[in-house]
Amino acid sequence: MITVYNPADGSIVGEAPEMSKAEVAQAIDRTCIAFPAWSRRLAKERSELLRAWFDLVKADRRAFAEVMVQENGKCISEALGEVDYGLGFIEWYAEEAKRVYGDTIPTHAADSAVLVVKEPAGPTAAITPWNFPFMMICRKIATALAAGCTMIIKPSEETPLTAYKLLDYARRAGIPEGVFEMVTGNPKEIGELFTSDLRIRKISFTGSTAVGKLLASASGATLKKMTLELGGNAPFVVFADADFDEAVAGAVLAKLRNSGQVCISPNRFYVHDAIYDRFVAALAERVSKIEVGNGMREEFVVGPLVNQTGFDKVAALVDDARKHDARVVLGGKQHSLGGLFYEPTILADIGDDVKMAQSEIFGPVFPIYRFTTEDELIERANNTEYGLVAYAYTRDLGRAFRLSHKLEAGMVIINSGSVGTASVPFGGVKQSGYGREGSYYGIEEYVEVKYVLMAGLNR
Ligand code: ADP
Repeated sequence: MITVYNPADGSIVGEAPEMSKAEVAQAIDRTCIAFPAWSRRLAKERSELLRAWFDLVKADRRAFAEVMVQENGKCISEALGEVDYGLGFIEWYAEEAKRVYGDTIPTHAADSAVLVVKEPAGPTAAITPWNFPFMMICRKIATALAAGCTMIIKPSEETPLTAYKLLDYARRAGIPEGVFEMVTGNPKEIGELFTSDLRIRKISFTGSTAVGKLLASASGATLKKMTLELGGNAPFVVFADADFDEAVAGAVLAKLRNSGQVCISPNRFYVHDAIYDRFVAALAERVSKIEVGNGMREEFVVGPLVNQTGFDKVAALVDDARKHDARVVLGGKQHSLGGLFYEPTILADIGDDVKMAQSEIFGPVFPIYRFTTEDELIERANNTEYGLVAYAYTRDLGRAFRLSHKLEAGMVIINSGSVGTASVPFGGVKQSGYGREGSYYGIEEYVEVKYVLMAGLNR
């Protein structure tokens, strides 16, 4: 068995099966065998099963949130928010299942008709991370099932309890074995079984760029469709004409969510020279009032980092910035609670040569860079191999449009620190991956377009 620990105090909160290769192979077989019947079910029937699952989970919303607090460390208010966010995908795709429309195209030949139909891609597989143990699974499985695909999921071994609880509720709602399978064990071994199997037609992965590339190249041998949500290095830009208080509030919200352990977390704050000092002071005042602690408290708190590796990475990046003469305005070290708790940290007067300018921090750290012109800002903001999301605060409409065109990211968020919901296409460009999840675009990733020519109609 795999032991699951509470990052807040190191206590054991549960265990999950460490499956053998043979057990994983059997689960893949079940996923493939279930596909033909599932793909033939009426869209309405698939929709009703998703809806039944949604209702059951919703009725037990708090229980799911508590499991997440225990295995991930996020605070209960955020965990409840994640349950609603994830449920939003099940609801959205239960509705969308009935609207996978095709096309007719004016024909090119006499006595014929041209049809375009969308067919489910086939049996699919997914690998999910620990930072959103609930939502990531909902987002992938709901889309796959709505499109008529079956799916096998390998959740993160850090957070398998939420995952298996979701599976249990899916079974109770009537979603059959094979249609939704789950495996845990050796990630590398499971990844190899998924990628090498000719029958699996698509893989959806959320996690690090390194593992995403590994899966994509391994999947090349069996030519799978892929959706890859990988690392980010989001710029968060505040111009002098921005609504100042809104920008400060947005920065805090976007950064401290999940203690900064989010792929869309702002990783580089660029603040215009004219408001720089005022912004740093206002941010410090606000952040210093936020408490750090165990997530079971009802109010928002910054929780522990998920594990020692994550903690050490954050500490090393802050030390590197300090060595490069960054000014520590707040925090900068382990919190007095000890363990995996790191103080919310603000770093000012920071140069572009620090390591954290190019690597994902994944912790509660605000590096604040200074800029003066829009052109300079765009160049620096785009100076990263990643391209997931970019945030900008400005009240100049022309500038807002220019930024939306010029910032290299799959998502540009103007005047808000909040990104995701079920109805929008989530995803990145460059080394942040490809493909989109959520919205109408998300389901397109799980279908194949088939062109049908019907000729000889008047013969
Ligand atoms: P993170 O740094 O967020 O943990 P990872 O990419 O390491 O990012 O993990 C995301 C998911 O990928 C987890 O479910 C993890 O178990 C899985 N994973 C890690 N290494 C591999 C691998 N070699 N093959 C397949 N999956 C992997």
